[in-house]
Amino acid sequence: MEHIKAALPQPQITSVNQTYWDSLKAGDLMFQQCACGHRWLPARTECPSCLARDWQWKKATGDARLVTWVVYHHAYHPSVADRLPYTVAVVELAEGPRLVTNIVEQDHPEPLRVDMPLALRIEVEGDTSLPRFAVRPPGEAETMAPH
Ligand SMILES: [Zn+2]
Repeated sequence: MEHIKAALPQPQITSVNQTYWDSLKAGDLMFQQCACGHRWLPARTECPSCLARDWQWKKATGDARLVTWVVYHHAYHPSVADRLPYTVAVVELAEGPRLVTNIVEQDHPEPLRVDMPLALRIEVEGDTSLPRFAVRPPGEAETMAPH
């Protein structure tokens, strides 16, 4: 039987999230910050805290911590059949926003644990650049977040 490799589902690009996806292609992970100080992902038109539309895109340092994760041993979509097992995680950026992502480069000797320091790894999948994270190797300094 011929194995047909399915492509990963692609994100729906809208006027609201286009900057997010374009920035990833250029090597930057961006989040939104409201005039009230709240920061969030994914992209939306109003601040989820105060509903204002007075927000700006900000560049994330790429430093993050592991909040929770699950390891998939079954392919619920054909595009991930040759990636098993793979890890889906909720990650919190140093700046505060959380996103659902993958943990990659898991040849790290330490098992995953809550609050583990992570570093951004932007990976290209077809026409899309995706923000994924790897466990930050011991001794690799955290990027200093701008304040
Ligand atoms: Zn706000």
